[in-house]
Amino acid sequence: MKKETMGFKGGFHLLDAYPLSVCNIIDEISSDSTPETFQFPVFGQKIKHVIVNLCPTEPWALPNWVILKHKTIVFFNMIKEIQKTYFSDARLYLAITEKEDRVVEEARNFAGGEDWIRVFSLSAKYPQDDPVILTKIVLGMDVNFGQDTKPFGILILDPQTISAMHEQGIMRKDVTSRYLALSGTGLRENEIIHVELGTSVEKILKNKVREAVTFRVFINGPLRGKEITDFSQKIDWSVNNIVVLEEKNRKALFPMFKADELAFTTNLIGESRRCVYCNFCDDICPVDLEPALYYHSYVRGEKHKARLYNMGKCIECGLCSFICPSKLELQKIIIECKALGKHE
Ligand code: SF4
Ligand code: SF4
Repeated sequence: MKKETMGFKGGFHLLDAYPLSVCNIIDEISSDSTPETFQFPVFGQKIKHVIVNLCPTEPWALPNWVILKHKTIVFFNMIKEIQKTYFSDARLYLAITEKEDRVVEEARNFAGGEDWIRVFSLSAKYPQDDPVILTKIVLGMDVNFGQDTKPFGILILDPQTISAMHEQGIMRKDVTSRYLALSGTGLRENEIIHVELGTSVEKILKNKVREAVTFRVFINGPLRGKEITDFSQKIDWSVNNIVVLEEKNRKALFPMFKADELAFTTNLIGESRRCVYCNFCDDICPVDLEPALYYHSYVRGEKHKARLYNMGKCIECGLCSFICPSKLELQKIIIECKALGKHE
């Protein structure tokens, strides 16, 4: 087994910039109706490569320890059984964050000289674990953003899905719940919850949001996830985390003076700000695009022209919007321009 450490140059260390601590107490939340059941992944094609993503790169993502439970070898044995049962002709790749050096070492010892498994220790730079980047690093193959990798014989699985496949497929027990990370400034505390599938977001957030705060809720993080306003939405297997952010759109310059005239709004967006040509967005883009170029085409009313500059390669990671000092909504602009192409 070849030992290697690989990574990519773009992206950003969000985990270092925003370290998040979650309390270890796991709250159990049950659904009010019959819980839904985990749907075992269906593969119509022969799977040749299985990538296990143990490299979460977002501060609010579910940490590995929740599933590995500090019993890494038990987890690796689970993977071995799954490989034998379902993918006996496939090679397995463990993509592990280099921050967890003990897990990396145990994985390398476990893999030993075996040919069916390879271990990759990766820098936890966001969005290193995006399927486009992961596939490129691990297999050297190019897939497009949003493309299903199964027709290429590639399956990317997170540790929780591995654990559910083992429980349901091998142990023959129905899986009706999953772990979620619940975090954000709008909450009393960051915690891990174990929730039945089909439970509403409203039930999950009950008694967990801080009193008297205006907040916004995101499913799967504020960078690539979706903001929701309908809290009757139910949790399914695709939900890894819920982020609740306190919405502060006014900032007092001198809080000791309680005068409204001394407050200004902080939620101004693109229309009242300008690109300052800092190139931060170009520098941070993990797939070497030039988001500022898209912005300038967009504000000139040339949305079609914006799409000419490789926009299809954008993996919608949101880093350009995140880093822009003028707070221009670059990711939103890109998604709007891409959608224009789809509807033509
Ligand atoms: S959203 Fe697209 S353009 Fe912006 S940094 Fe990410 S990949 Fe690059
Ligand atoms: S980060 Fe924002 S201000 Fe800087 S070049 Fe990009 S779009 Fe312009």
